[in-house]
Amino acid sequence: MALGGNLGDVRVTFERALQWLNSEPNIAVEAVSAFHETVAVGIAGEDASQPAYLNGVARITTALSPLDLLRVLQQVELAAGRDRSASAIRWAPRRLDLDLLLFGDAGELVLGHRTLTLPHPRLAERAFVLTPLAELNPDLVHPVTGATVAQLAARLPEH
Ligand code: ATP
Ligand code: CA
Ligand code: CA
Repeated sequence: MALGGNLGDVRVTFERALQWLNSEPNIAVEAVSAFHETVAVGIAGEDASQPAYLNGVARITTALSPLDLLRVLQQVELAAGRDRSASAIRWAPRRLDLDLLLFGDAGELVLGHRTLTLPHPRLAERAFVLTPLAELNPDLVHPVTGATVAQLAARLPEH
């Protein structure tokens, strides 16, 4: 799972979200990466008008289905005060964004559902996700590209 946010005290929001998830009977938070600051990216590239993002990833074990887990993540986003009315603006500033990156014991699930795509469709191109994910699970294989997380992270363009 990826955590992101750029409004409010994001570090505190992340900690609360992780506690909330861990307190769910069917969810255990197994490992959490360091949290990294990233310049916001808008439709037209870097967006200096938005506050910087904090990003991290966590490894979760769950008895829930992917769709049920996504529903819980969306409840946690709302509880953290995320304003869905602003979501007409793509990549608008938000307090908390929780995305599912990979699912399955080896991250192997491939799913194209109306409300859930796995792996996350932009995982392979996002340094702010791949870098913390490589801290936790460098050897996970992206089931669509066949590359490991470490290989994907190493392949990113310099910036
Ligand atoms: P991005 O997907 O580029 O990171 P975002 O996180 O800002 O953008 P949201 O507005 O949070 O996008 O989510 C839009 C929709 O994406 C959600 O309502 C959800 O149904 C769908 N979605 C599809 N695949 C995933 C996934 N792997 N993780 C989380 N949401 C997903
Ligand atoms: Ca996202
Ligand atoms: Ca999201």
